[in-house]
Amino acid sequence: HGPAKVIAMCNQKGGVGKTTSTINLGASLAAYGRRVLLVDLDPQGALSAGLGVAHHELDLTVYNLLVEPKISADDVLMRTRVENLDLLPSNIDLSAAEIQLVTEVGREQTLGRVTVNALTCADEVLIPMECEYFSLRGLALLNDTVEKVRDRLNPRLKLAGIVVTMFDGRTLHSREVMTRVVEVFGDVVYDTVITRTVRFPETSVAGEPITTWAPQSS
Ligand code: ADP
Ligand code: MG
Repeated sequence: HGPAKVIAMCNQKGGVGKTTSTINLGASLAAYGRRVLLVDLDPQGALSAGLGVAHHELDLTVYNLLVEPKISADDVLMRTRVENLDLLPSNIDLSAAEIQLVTEVGREQTLGRVTVNALTCADEVLIPMECEYFSLRGLALLNDTVEKVRDRLNPRLKLAGIVVTMFDGRTLHSREVMTRVVEVFGDVVYDTVITRTVRFPETSVAGEPITTWAPQSS
């Protein structure tokens, strides 16, 4: 396979489908035979929880990896129930890392330190966007951040694309927002949209990806 491709799933707005897209893109790539490592960089630990990991009880998380030089990824890595899908889990400890990193290196960003770290080590950034009018505004800000990181820290950072989530083709609003997103961002928007379905909230409870929970779901 050669060296890993690093994709940052990024949007400063909460509840847009980052965690859901990460788990299910990861599981889908794993099903294709790729070896996938998911890195949870959210102190809520939702990615870990969504994969059935009891993250509150963990001794070693991404936090240790970020602030303790002696800890390696292998010490933190966990297998998941999905074959070929591994995880570097996180929990609330990561908020402490966020604060420590800010005092150590400076403080010019608007987004969190941890997000900037992710963008700095990524080859590509993939932006999940909820199909909702106000999501459009946030994207401009996010674009600025990506450009700043590209200028100052990571010149090779590419925009993989914007994936529209929670699309409901039955509502005029969803269809209008979709049209607008394509007008504004053009080819950067994936043709594939993720529809709104209760199957996704169900997967969080089940702690497994939609590829096994509801494989027939569009
Ligand atoms: P983020 O990580 O950006 O905060 P999540 O992936 O946690 O967003 O999604 C927020 C909430 O919306 C969760 O409860 C999730 O189950 C739900 N959700 C995500 N994608 C969909 C979808 N396509 N259809 C319905 N609900 C969704
Ligand atoms: Mg999340």
